[in-house]
Order: sequence, then structure tokens, then C-alpha cells
Amino acid sequence: MSNKQHKNLSARPALEPQSIAQLLTQALALETEATARYAELAEVMHSHNNLDAAELFSRMAGIEQLHVEQIRQQISQRRLTDLPATHYRWVGLEGPETTDYADLHYLMTPRQGLLLALLNEQRARDYYVNIADRSSDPEVLELARELAQEEREHVQWVEHWLKRYPPTEEGWDHDDDPPILQD
Ligand code: ZN
Repeated sequence: MSNKQHKNLSARPALEPQSIAQLLTQALALETEATARYAELAEVMHSHNNLDAAELFSRMAGIEQLHVEQIRQQISQRRLTDLPATHYRWVGLEGPETTDYADLHYLMTPRQGLLLALLNEQRARDYYVNIADRSSDPEVLELARELAQEEREHVQWVEHWLKRYPPTEEGWDHDDDPPILQD
């Protein structure tokens, strides 16, 4: 994956959350997208019989799904309605700025998938850290800190998994038995 084109992408929200409602809205979008992307990665890996990677990404989807539920709970506890729209997008998978569907190469190894996950988990962490650093609203600050801490744990978790997968060998994208294209 080319990191060059990602360099200018900031994890900073276009609109800094001014309230707990805005922060929860953006968090919900971020976590929902992460869940969807991990589930998608799991499906791609599964359809190409990369079961190791499929299982790994299913687990990550499950972790992010828990996050989605926690945030939904907070939103309903606070009886928040009419939440503002958000534009948070994952990097690397069909993001509007990147259109990097090649990152989802069907022969992608677990390691490559994890590197993509690492990039996005770090980005999520930085996103919340950035809010925690700047907010003057104590409630926003506290929640942003909490979410940043959870993302820090995700980053560590992905780093831990990466140790199990050695660097990709050359020729990883060579397929001796390429799939037959059908209409
Ligand atoms: Zn995460």
C-alpha cells in the first residue's frame, strides 16, 4: 500500500465535536465503519480460502461491534435524538479520497490486512486524542479520553497479532490457480 497518498489525510474531524452529542455521533460513525470494513475483509479472505485472515478479521469486527453497541447505549441513555451527520471514513478501503480498492487484493495476506487495520486503528486513536487535547467541555474531554484509551488497546492488539505474521514474502500476489472470471 502506498502511504504517500495517505499522508495528508488527517484524522482530525472536519467539525470538532462541540458537544457530547457530536462526539458520540462521530464515534458511532467511526466504529460502525470499522465494523463494516472488518466484516468485509473477513468475507473477502473467506471467499479466497484464507481462513486464518478471515477468522482474524471476524474477531476484529466483533470487537468493533461491541464498541458500536456501547456508543448506542450511551446515546440512548442520554436520550439524544436528531444527531448531526458525520463524514468520517476509513482509510484504504474505497474511501472517497483514496479509492484504494487494490488494498483489498484477494490474495492479501493476514499481515497486509493487519497493517491496514493498524493504520486505521492508529488513525482512530489519534482522532480521539486530538479531541481530548483540544476540548474545553469536560464531558467531551472525558469521553474522548476513554475512547482514545480503547483505541490504544486496539492498536496494541493489532501490533501483537502482527508479531505472529512474518513480513510478506515476495510473490505474494502470484496465483498459480487464478479464479475463472464469470459473468
Ligand atoms: Zn478500534
